[in-house]
Amino acid sequence: MSTAYQIIDHSYDVIVVGAGGAGLRASLGMAEKGLTTACITKVFPTRSHTVAAQGGISASLGNMGEDDWRWHMYDTVKGSDWLGDQDAIEYMCREAVPAIIELEHYGVPFSRTDDGKIYQRPFGGMTTNYGEGIAQRTCAAADRTGHAILHTLYQQSLKYKAEFFIEYFALDLIMDDEGVCRGVMALNMAEGTIHRFSAQMVVLATGGYGRAYFSATSAHTCTGDGNGMVLRAGLPLQDMEFVQFHPTGIYGSGCLISEGVRGEGGFLVNSEGERFMPRYAPHAKDLASRDVVSRAITMEIREGRGVGEHKDRIYLHLEHLEPDIIKERLPGIAELARIFAGVDVTKAPIPVLPTVHYNMGGIPTNHYGEVVTLKEGNTEGVVPGLMAIGECACVSVHGANRLGSNSLLDIIVFGRAAAIRCAQIMAGNAAAPHKPLAKNAGEAALERLDNLRYAKGSYNTAEIRLKMQRVMQDHAAVFRTGEILEEGVEKIAEVFHLFSDIKITDRSLIWNSDLIETLELDNLRGQAVVTMNSALNRTESRGGHAREDYPNRDDENWLKHTLAWLDAQAQVTINYRPVHLYTLTPDVDVIPPKARVY
Ligand SMILES: Cc1cc2nc3c(=O)[nH]c(=O)nc-3n(C[C@H](O)[C@H](O)[C@H](O)COP(=O)(O)OP(=O)(O)OC[C@H]3O[C@@H](n4cnc5c(N)ncnc54)[C@H](O)[C@@H]3O)c2cc1C
Repeated sequence: MSTAYQIIDHSYDVIVVGAGGAGLRASLGMAEKGLTTACITKVFPTRSHTVAAQGGISASLGNMGEDDWRWHMYDTVKGSDWLGDQDAIEYMCREAVPAIIELEHYGVPFSRTDDGKIYQRPFGGMTTNYGEGIAQRTCAAADRTGHAILHTLYQQSLKYKAEFFIEYFALDLIMDDEGVCRGVMALNMAEGTIHRFSAQMVVLATGGYGRAYFSATSAHTCTGDGNGMVLRAGLPLQDMEFVQFHPTGIYGSGCLISEGVRGEGGFLVNSEGERFMPRYAPHAKDLASRDVVSRAITMEIREGRGVGEHKDRIYLHLEHLEPDIIKERLPGIAELARIFAGVDVTKAPIPVLPTVHYNMGGIPTNHYGEVVTLKEGNTEGVVPGLMAIGECACVSVHGANRLGSNSLLDIIVFGRAAAIRCAQIMAGNAAAPHKPLAKNAGEAALERLDNLRYAKGSYNTAEIRLKMQRVMQDHAAVFRTGEILEEGVEKIAEVFHLFSDIKITDRSLIWNSDLIETLELDNLRGQAVVTMNSALNRTESRGGHAREDYPNRDDENWLKHTLAWLDAQAQVTINYRPVHLYTLTPDVDVIPPKARVY
């Protein structure tokens, strides 16, 4: 078979897969350090999901009031519900300051204070003095911080001569017999050519997998391709049960409707016309915290009081507000509702449902960005030649729950860290010739591609994808019970197996969106299975994982990271890694004893 495909070979010191904030920061850093660097991306770099990030990026610059990276660290550890690795969190919060100043010098057009400093706004969970006051820590470029960062980093990467392979779809890692990553296989989507990239280091920066769910705020390209490749390479994913939901995504498209709408007086109503939030949160009502509102909506839908054809959504009403207020304070929301829900918010409610917003889980790494796994005797070890950064990675700085504005920080700090580490590893060695690849390197990836390209089963890709998304939305949702998850494990395994009966109608290799979506679904289905099984396995509630049958956090049994491996039969094997409760600088009183209570 594979002889039918002509392979074009490339060789670089470093291959970065992904050109979001994480991939671009790494590409720039690697190139700046003199490593020959290629960045492969399935979308044009500035179309990566990072472009959608509005709110901002945290760093204790102290431009708008006193601040300290130790306070930021405390907030992040607490926000993670103590599942975050404290050495990595220390690294992120400490390095945030120089990393943001660097971004400023690279040219990110941050908003400014009157005296010319970077503007910083308050954000949920960000406090001063270990929880006492409200911090202004989130640096912003108006309401398009991700957009600004992405454009600047792309320009800088070009300046340092990183090479870009744009609209190339990475298929699989090339792993050798000793478990070393040696490169990656990719398909040029525009020309239909096959490329084999050999490298001393492969850096995965492929983003989250929100699209395993029916409703996600993330772009349709967020299919966790790197995570899928890692699972196929026989490596584990970590803490996949932790998925963050935002209560009000527009039904169908998942576009975010911000809390600001409820702040202006908008409220949620079920099919009986009842304003139900006061039943769940008598004081805060519709303005209760994200997780509380998400759970309340889920309860209403589950108990049959959802609206719409499938009774699977809730209405968010704004019609009672003065049209002038909507025009003045919520113009963006009115536009989103019009475009994505066909609703005029002055006349009708917006159909919404809790929507996947962020994946805390991903590829386990240390705070240098190196991928880790369990080796013989259950000892932790690095996977040589492989790094992961950004939303696809689980460092883990967000633990069980991510704080707003800490993800843009994560992608910048660890993109930068990966470049620093890589330069150290390759010191003096970068120009060394690569060990020759095995003759059949990449053949398995081509076989998979070929099988899918000519698949003649009974289900088309969209049908299977919708089934998967519905199972995830219904069974691994905002909150969970053993019973619902057990059912979910069965159903998601069925969906996983349906894939062997898939049909593709377009056999070409050029701009074959049918084939690309099928490759993406292949990646998603594995992550869906792992997420469901990991969620069933963890019998406690922590952060984004809320089990009704185990409502409390259980540190005695569960203060540990889940590692999950997947086999071709959808069987999941689970093991654990300890949470790093130590800091990098033990002589510094990083977190005061009162804050160290778990
Ligand atoms: C609507 C929205 C708003 C947000 N707002 C904020 C905010 O204000 N502050 C904050 O901190 N966080 C925010 N987040 C979260 C944050 O933006 C993301 O977690 C972060 O940007 C992810 O960056 P990344 O570089 O890891 O991945 P992405 O930006 O998703 O980039 C992934 C890259 O991988 C490439 N890729 C993927 N698969 C393949 C493949 N098979 N072959 C080749 N290339 C591939 C893609 O082309 C892309 O370039 C928001 C997220 C969303 C969805």
